[in-house]
Amino acid sequence: MSFVKGLKCKECGEEYPKEPLHVCETCFGPLEASYDYDGIKKVLTREVIEGRDRSIWRYKELLPIDEEPTVGLKVGFTPLIKAENLGRALGVKEIYVKNDAVCYPTLSFKDRVVSVALSKAKEFGFKTAACASTGNLANAVASLTVSGNLESYIFIPYDLEQAKIIGTTVYGANLIGVKGTYDDVNRLCSEVAGKFGWAFVNINMRPYYAEGSKSFAYEILEQLGWRTPRHIVVPMASGSLLTKVWKAIKEFEMLGLVESNGTKIYGAQATGCSPITTALKNDWEIFKPVKPNTIAKSLAIGTPADGFYAMCVMRESGGWGEDVTDEEIIDGIKLLAETEGIFTETAGGVTMAVTKKLIAQGVIPKNESIVVSITGNGLKTQEAIADRVAQPLIIDARLEEFEELYLKLKEQEDKGGMKDALCSHSHTA
Ligand SMILES: *Cc1c(COP(=O)(O)O)cnc(C)c1O
Ligand SMILES: [Zn+2]
Repeated sequence: MSFVKGLKCKECGEEYPKEPLHVCETCFGPLEASYDYDGIKKVLTREVIEGRDRSIWRYKELLPIDEEPTVGLKVGFTPLIKAENLGRALGVKEIYVKNDAVCYPTLSFKDRVVSVALSKAKEFGFKTAACASTGNLANAVASLTVSGNLESYIFIPYDLEQAKIIGTTVYGANLIGVKGTYDDVNRLCSEVAGKFGWAFVNINMRPYYAEGSKSFAYEILEQLGWRTPRHIVVPMASGSLLTKVWKAIKEFEMLGLVESNGTKIYGAQATGCSPITTALKNDWEIFKPVKPNTIAKSLAIGTPADGFYAMCVMRESGGWGEDVTDEEIIDGIKLLAETEGIFTETAGGVTMAVTKKLIAQGVIPKNESIVVSITGNGLKTQEAIADRVAQPLIIDARLEEFEELYLKLKEQEDKGGMKDALCSHSHTA
């Protein structure tokens, strides 16, 4: 039984049946899935959810599918870590890391959205899926179309990180590198989508795709013991994830699954591609498109489709937005790695660094609960920090050599800490 009523225009409210459609024919506003919440309230309790498989589908009544899911059955339910070491480093009392760096199967939160989009695409009878991607979406579509028995065509800016390219072609996907930015890729894909009858997960399937992001927030609330945090920091590319985190919280409150805690939502961008936070900080009504120049390639969207709505959410929730330089992004990656043992990609570095900045500014208070949204894995963006981490200490396979090295390390550790010892040794070795 499905509780999905149909699609509804976010601007004029016009209603549409469940079709592969993403813009309103009357006003060109974006379409969004709508639900029968009264019906959902009668069946979806905490106990029902807790009794189900640990995946995004434990919240299936709130995802826009009509039949049982067929793609990505094991996706989601990633760890929420109480980050004591990070908390000490930042001087805050209660901070958590939601770790989608280990999302199954392709190590980013895009596995969530793609599972929903492809399950829906199969309901519609599509045989081929496609996407315009900044990298992680490419990986998720390539992997999940294989396990879901669909064909795929994947379009990316040609200069993405090696791991994101290999992590797409390894699955046998058709990968097309377009000479241009993501915004050029996206424009091309809109034309391709109009001509070829494919399920473009983030174009004609976007209303279904985007809803998958809600599972990221549902899990946070459940994992906090059915509580809502006071503050959540979310990275923004198109701005979709941020708007869906907000929607998810509002839905759980409305369904009585959690109590309202006045949660504030904070958006994080790289300064080299910060159309949304720049507009917010300047108090502009709408953002100005930019040409991206940042190491955070997964967030490099200069014309963010949901940028306007993301600004509304940050304002309405009482949150805020910030952006950070590439240097700060690298420091953010290292901070999370060195405190919590979590290696995130550049997007996670953005989120971490923005969290730190907002705490330092006093915008996020130190004595209230904070959740940091880590959305991707550091092994995919190694280029960004390769020359900023220590090299191994090379020795011959002789005990005396190691003993000598060990003494030297201990000496330096007493002086200035292990990390300094490692770094300085690697330069002199
Ligand atoms: C795509 C992506 C985002 C942001 O997604 P939007 O919903 O487009 O804002 C954040 N983090 C990572 C790692 C991503 O790949
Ligand atoms: Zn409309």
